[in-house]
Amino acid sequence: MADGARAEFPIPANCFAETVTSVHHYTDRLFKFRITRPASFRFRSGEFVMIGLPNAEKPVFRAYSIASPSWDEELEFFSIKVPGGPLTEHLQKIKEGDTILLRKKPTGTLVNDALLPGKRVYMFSTGTGIAPFASLIRDPETYEKFDEVVLTHTCREIAELAYGKELVEETLADPLVGEIVAGKLKYYGSTTREAYDRTGRITDLLTSGELFDQLGLPPIDPAIDRAMICGSMDMINDTKSILEGFGLEEGANNAPNTYVVERAFVG
Ligand SMILES: Cc1cc2nc3c(=O)[nH]c(=O)nc-3n(C[C@H](O)[C@H](O)[C@H](O)COP(=O)(O)OP(=O)(O)OC[C@H]3O[C@@H](n4cnc5c(N)ncnc54)[C@H](O)[C@@H]3O)c2cc1C
Repeated sequence: MADGARAEFPIPANCFAETVTSVHHYTDRLFKFRITRPASFRFRSGEFVMIGLPNAEKPVFRAYSIASPSWDEELEFFSIKVPGGPLTEHLQKIKEGDTILLRKKPTGTLVNDALLPGKRVYMFSTGTGIAPFASLIRDPETYEKFDEVVLTHTCREIAELAYGKELVEETLADPLVGEIVAGKLKYYGSTTREAYDRTGRITDLLTSGELFDQLGLPPIDPAIDRAMICGSMDMINDTKSILEGFGLEEGANNAPNTYVVERAFVG
């Protein structure tokens, strides 16, 4: 299989063909890229879409959370690089000007609509699971619905937290949303395999109460707190049971409730 836009294959009928506008590599496992946005492509902040490369007659498509907010004129993605991964071994080589295939229908449960109104929303993420929250924390609608947004991001190493830290700094400095976000967004990064200010799995930080102590917040109260989770299957299952212990209940698009989940990847 050839890489990126170098091969000439017909664009599948159910896809947009978009152009890469920037690529930024954080580590040997993580990178971000931005692409042009088709005028007719609508989505709700927090949703995901299938993307692929025009490098085969039948291209490989994978689910990707859209990391940019619904008002942004471009689309942003935050990606893993899986050694030998059918999509990412090629995707990690993309450059400005290359073509990305984008399926036309976004979907997902990590959306404001799937949560009941509340005072505070927690967004629990590990690894690339921060991507849907990168979209939501930049959407003014999130701050209309909640007075306070707590974004947690847990990675193995400090370098893997860079995307999230940069995101929060840029969001606060943004001329469009900075003022809306200021004083309402709390960021909490932690690592599991390298010593850092906050070390440990988010599940342990939640059960020990360390998370609440360090943020200066009371424990989760189902009357006012809401939550969204995005990470590995194990992280999701463990976090779900802790949240249910606090009295939160899982919601969906057709039945909003006090927490929602989505897998950051399959496997
Ligand atoms: C709803 C949903 C949203 C997703 N959003 C994103 C996203 O925003 N960014 C992103 O990079 N991936 C995301 N993924 C995963 C993505 O669909 C692909 O699996 C990933 O791009 C790797 O593709 P691949 O073909 O190279 O390897 P695959 O064959 O798809 O994966 C090979 C193995 O790599 C591991 N793996 C795959 N993705 C990840 C990951 N993100 N983090 C850690 N390990 C992983 C798993 O063990 C998997 O079995 C999402 C998946 C789902 C279901």
